[in-house]
Amino acid sequence: MMERKALAPWNKYKIGAVPNGRWQNEDCQSLEKVYHVAHLRNAVRIVEDGKIKQGLIYDKSKLNTSRVLVVWLSPNRWYNGSRYGNISFEFDFTELVAGKKYYWVEVMKEYTPHASRILITSEDFDSILTPYDPTQGDGPWFYDTESNSHYWNGKYCLEFMFSRDLPLDISQDVSFIDHHRTYCNMKDHVCADQSMPKEDVNARFIAYLIAGTDAIDTRLFTRKSLRGSAPAEAFQSGMEHIVQLGARPRKEKRWGELLAVDDLAIVTAKAALLFLYQDKKIEFKKMVRQFANIDEFIGCLKAIVIEKFGVDKPTLRFLDD
Ligand SMILES: [Zn+2]
Repeated sequence: MMERKALAPWNKYKIGAVPNGRWQNEDCQSLEKVYHVAHLRNAVRIVEDGKIKQGLIYDKSKLNTSRVLVVWLSPNRWYNGSRYGNISFEFDFTELVAGKKYYWVEVMKEYTPHASRILITSEDFDSILTPYDPTQGDGPWFYDTESNSHYWNGKYCLEFMFSRDLPLDISQDVSFIDHHRTYCNMKDHVCADQSMPKEDVNARFIAYLIAGTDAIDTRLFTRKSLRGSAPAEAFQSGMEHIVQLGARPRKEKRWGELLAVDDLAIVTAKAALLFLYQDKKIEFKKMVRQFANIDEFIGCLKAIVIEKFGVDKPTLRFLDD
């Protein structure tokens, strides 16, 4: 037994000592949340589908010819940005792995740092893969049964492959992160998100949520606050950037006559948002400038958001509003 453990491929990535109290070690960090990061287009599809659908594995993984379908999740913080895009869906790790089987897949050594991969599944892969026992504490993921806590070795990348669709109703949050400056995982086409300011990608995502689709689990984008139901952080920051883009340049004099209460206000604002989603900034501004001023546009934006997301008006504040 000892001999087999010494030879295990995950030994090199073994976690360090479990930290005392709240203090975290880089090589032994608390593993409570995992994230699925997506590019703008995929994030929109995920929201419309109401789930992250399993997909084929396209990189050089040993499973890429196996026709196994997976969803990728990771506890990584991506300090240098993510190669998977800007939009991050958060999940509770304990909930996802409870009662599942775990298999060691591989280490991707061409990644810096090396990326260990573990398959989480309800199916039997005994004939293809080596089972991974997280309670042993001899690899990058450790499950301490005494404290009922999970830990991971943050000195390396850790990627979990889930062989199931992940419904968004078990997702806990959506946040915005940086795209990696150099790397992108998109093989088929040029990445449009990588060269764009993160705030613009966020604003386009939120613009689509507001104007482009009715199929939205609004719970993911709202929070309880003292003033009532409020936009969650990512939603709020996206809306603020939409308003900033619409208001710029502030000296511009040519505005239209449309008021927030007018019949055409809502369709005009939605058209503006859809142009923004398509990255057509000039058309977006032209539509925003049909309003009499930025405050009328904001008033209309608020009306749409209140109706669609059930947020309470006192929680919506933008610019010098
Ligand atoms: Zn990219």
